[in-house]
Amino acid sequence: MTVRTRFAPSPNGLLHLGHAYAAVVAHDLARARGGEFLVRIEDIDGTRSRAELIPEFLADLEWLGLHRDGPVLHQSTRLAAYAEAGERLKAMGLLYPCQCTRSEVLAAARQSGPDGPLYPGTCRGRAVDPEGAAWRLDMAKAVALAGPLTWTDELAGVQQADPQVFGDIVLLRKEAPASYHLAATVDDAAQGITLVTRGMDLFQSTRVHRLLQALLDLPVPIWHHHALLVEPDGRKLAKRRGSPALRDLRLAGADGTALAEDLRQGRLPAGLSLGHGVGQQA
Ligand code: GLU
Repeated sequence: MTVRTRFAPSPNGLLHLGHAYAAVVAHDLARARGGEFLVRIEDIDGTRSRAELIPEFLADLEWLGLHRDGPVLHQSTRLAAYAEAGERLKAMGLLYPCQCTRSEVLAAARQSGPDGPLYPGTCRGRAVDPEGAAWRLDMAKAVALAGPLTWTDELAGVQQADPQVFGDIVLLRKEAPASYHLAATVDDAAQGITLVTRGMDLFQSTRVHRLLQALLDLPVPIWHHHALLVEPDGRKLAKRRGSPALRDLRLAGADGTALAEDLRQGRLPAGLSLGHGVGQQA
């Protein structure tokens, strides 16, 4: 089977060195195995997505010398596939509508999960108007149906999925038609991704993705969660803390393929290191 990896940036801000590192990892793992390197643009967050960044991302990848295979998949063209997956889960009785606002969830939550405050299940089992509602996964029911699940990370080995720690997560909502978890899982299958590479900050999310694969009868890839580039204080790089944008380096005439080679060889810009165990991002 052809090994297929992907780089899946969200156009919420310009790419920085951390993204360059992630793209190098995905590209090189595909090339080392005679496989394919795909690109997916995760542009369905209606409040944060900026279409004008997409051409910059594609130019950044070419500048780094990371040539993609096949067409770029834009999640904004995939809404019907997410809706269909949602309908299937609804028909299985695994989703329920929720009208709670973010502040209500925050006020009611007594614990935190990997994605933030844990939803206490306020709307579960209630008669809630589905019009404009968010649809939450009934986690206990889904886990009972799927049974025990494991997944394999190339670096960390076999893991128990145990997605209960996420609680009743939102899978469909009105402003972003599908959650990251649902869209990424459906698209990794649609793109035939066999090796999901991404940063350690998304390690926990794989629990949910593995559950969704089981519920939706999707193929199960192998994962490769890589270390993240971190600043001297151990926090992951972020543009808002002054990490340079790839676009700016490119426009200033820097050598992109040399930068990719430095990242590949572990020659990191001053002050940066590769960190493990970095906390989950929102
Ligand atoms: N779109 C996500 C990000 O930019 C990556 C998701 C993934 O690789 O699964 O952080």
